[in-house]
Amino acid sequence: MGSIYLYNNRFLSAEEVAISPEDRGYYYGDGIYEVFRVYNGRLFEPGLHFDRLERTAAGLRLNLPMDRSALLEKLEELVLRNRLNEGTLYIQFTRGAAPRSLPFPKEAEPSLMAYTTEVARPVAAMEAGIRAKTVEDIRWLHCDYKTLNLLPNVLAKQEAVEAGTDDAILHRGGTVTECSASNIMIVRDGVILTHPADNLILHGVTRAVVLRLAHAAELAVLERPFTLEELLGADEAFITGTTVEVTPVVSVDGQAIGSGAAGPVTRRLQRDFAAAIGL
Ligand code: PLP
Repeated sequence: MGSIYLYNNRFLSAEEVAISPEDRGYYYGDGIYEVFRVYNGRLFEPGLHFDRLERTAAGLRLNLPMDRSALLEKLEELVLRNRLNEGTLYIQFTRGAAPRSLPFPKEAEPSLMAYTTEVARPVAAMEAGIRAKTVEDIRWLHCDYKTLNLLPNVLAKQEAVEAGTDDAILHRGGTVTECSASNIMIVRDGVILTHPADNLILHGVTRAVVLRLAHAAELAVLERPFTLEELLGADEAFITGTTVEVTPVVSVDGQAIGSGAAGPVTRRLQRDFAAAIGL
């Protein structure tokens, strides 16, 4: 982890960050977050992250303490101060600190905390693919908001890990939505299928970039829900996300997907994604 945090308007060491025990993020998960990828010292697709952050803030009626240009300046300074070349930047806003009571507190000021982490690209998983387990999606009906309430994601991921797999693929009554921390796409008969960006999934930045690349490569794309059956019978499956980029899913519930290795559409999108990040 980078040694410098951004806490409200100040750059501090971890020891200097003093978060109130009455912070509503701590009591209620009453807050929102973003995870940006940093490639070559630069934030990747900051505009798409800010769009989602502002949309989530509006949905939760949480007033962001600064506008996006002021925030971008601070985040770029954080990356510089931590000398981060390749990794992630985590930022969260909570509704602030106030005695425990459900209604919005009148006095509380939203609180901001951000830090960076050095992480390499997940080259091994992108090459070999991951194994996944299907888990019922028990989340609320605003999965399009990127909030701190991640308990269903935590439980799903834990269930997948305890079953000896790498990740959980979530479904609502047999309709696949997304994964514990990524979106999912499948390829059937040359067509890429992915759940529409509605209230049941997070509108992934990587998902948007990959769809843009697929259109540019003239690959057929259908944003429509697909079933577990269609997933298991797919020619290819892959997940997209800030930390996983484009990672093949090679088996689901112990059953091989397609040939049991990354397929040609997945490989093409991986190459195009690498080009998009300037490699
Ligand atoms: N879906 C969920 C539930 C996530 O938590 C994430 C990222 O954390 C994603 C999808 C992928 O979004 P992005 O590509 O913006 O990282």
